[in-house]
Amino acid sequence: MQTNITQALLKTPQGQQAQSILRSCVHCGFCTATCPTYQLLGDELDSPRGRIYLIKQVLEGQQPTLKTRTHLDRCLTCRACETTCPSGVKYAQLVDIGREIVEQQVPRGVIESTQRYLLRQIIPFQKRFLFLLTIGQMFKPILPAFLRKKIPSRQRATAWPQQTQPRKMLVLGGCAQQVVAPQINSATANVLNHLGIELLEAKNATCCGAVSHHLNAKNETQRFLKQNIDVWWPMLEQGVEAIISTASGCGVMLKDYGHLMADNPQYAEKASRISELVKDISEVLSNENTLPVKLTEKSVPRIKVAFHSPCTLQHGLQINGRVENILEKCGYQLTQVNDAHLCCGSAGTYSILQPTLSGKLLNNRVQALEAEQPDIIATANIGCQMHLSTKSSTPVKHWIELVEPVFEEKQD
Ligand code: SF4
Ligand code: SF4
Repeated sequence: MQTNITQALLKTPQGQQAQSILRSCVHCGFCTATCPTYQLLGDELDSPRGRIYLIKQVLEGQQPTLKTRTHLDRCLTCRACETTCPSGVKYAQLVDIGREIVEQQVPRGVIESTQRYLLRQIIPFQKRFLFLLTIGQMFKPILPAFLRKKIPSRQRATAWPQQTQPRKMLVLGGCAQQVVAPQINSATANVLNHLGIELLEAKNATCCGAVSHHLNAKNETQRFLKQNIDVWWPMLEQGVEAIISTASGCGVMLKDYGHLMADNPQYAEKASRISELVKDISEVLSNENTLPVKLTEKSVPRIKVAFHSPCTLQHGLQINGRVENILEKCGYQLTQVNDAHLCCGSAGTYSILQPTLSGKLLNNRVQALEAEQPDIIATANIGCQMHLSTKSSTPVKHWIELVEPVFEEKQD
């Protein structure tokens, strides 16, 4: 695609990056076929190709409008379009640039700005999130049914293993996940312990920064990134071999640290090293040679599992089929899920900011997941897990929770 980006923008790294991405798009439109918002709304401007065109116009100097911002807001950043695109267009990086510029030129009103500010001030902070969740749970019995479903129950963590192991890995504690579902990381620690790997948590690590990043708060995002890098770096120097993410949404963000810190001379190198060391827990288990032997010896009852592969896992991290493989090796029976490439509508804060579209996507996804009447729905991201639970009548768990008992029984 030909571009004519303004000279002022072309002098910035952002402008140059946007030009190179725009020029890689051949405007073929293949991406529209897998875009959830285009499928729902049928409007070219709610498709990847249409949004790319809108961003191009803005970068070329055209004044964006409320309509421009609305079409960009409706994008889930699910990146299904990137998986489909034959030209390798880095849509997510382009939409980040477009959103930042459009937001500056079409500022939000007080209500929207406040809502976004509050989300940024609550979700990434465990204590604040826990406080609000506790209040929500107190009033849950008197709330209408549709609101009751939206308040998650808190789960209990299993005991964290106490053994010291020769191999060490770090886990991202995370924010909301540790409050709502701390058993995900303890299950991960137990599984890794059986493989001779000790899972460590860095006490002063914080949220990965994804919430602030997706809500266009650039300085705030940088603060989260710097804090994590400062806390993790000494541990990496002491021989920690990987940083594990148990939420694919956070994993994508951590993988992006190198890119997001590229212009910061003090942090660029460390951030890039951290991105290299980040692994989703499914990657770690798939790479452990001992895993298939241990697991194939075990046969669990044929429990039917429908796996919801989060967009961040399949399109962001581009990890396909690994979780499914592990679950099958554990003896679980996986069901067929139609349109498995589609987003459930969770998408970070999307379910709060775009409730109508998110609700439609949720209904479609739950219907597809429950079609073969599974015993359990498994997923790999806390956001999807909580969102699917608001609609599903089938229990929704993180897949590692299904793997943990297999190892426990194997040891018995
Ligand atoms: S993003 Fe890719 S698939 Fe979509 S129009 Fe551009 S080149 Fe074609
Ligand atoms: S990221 Fe998802 S919603 Fe956004 S344009 Fe691409 S496919 Fe559509």
